[in-house]
Amino acid sequence: MANPIVNPATSMIPEIDREKCTGCGICVKACPGKCIYLDSEDIAVIDIDYCENCGICAWERPHLCPEEAIKLPWDKWQRF
Ligand code: SF4
Ligand code: SF4
Repeated sequence: MANPIVNPATSMIPEIDREKCTGCGICVKACPGKCIYLDSEDIAVIDIDYCENCGICAWERPHLCPEEAIKLPWDKWQRF
């Protein structure tokens, strides 16, 4: 049986590079699920329990994050 077609953008939770994040808050405002917040060090964090996998915060054309700190973890994605 053929593998089902899986849209990576709807099956991966983005990751934030803490070294790159400047705490600008753009992703916090853009997240439709309201699940990105700035932690006590003003670094963006995703609450994975509420992430809707929409992929907006990790958009790359153009990058939503001016520091290009948010990426989909393509290296961990596997077809199933
Ligand atoms: S948009 Fe980028 S730099 Fe701004 S808070 Fe989010 S992860 Fe940090
Ligand atoms: S993928 Fe969508 S719901 Fe999840 S943190 Fe990013 S913007 Fe929010």
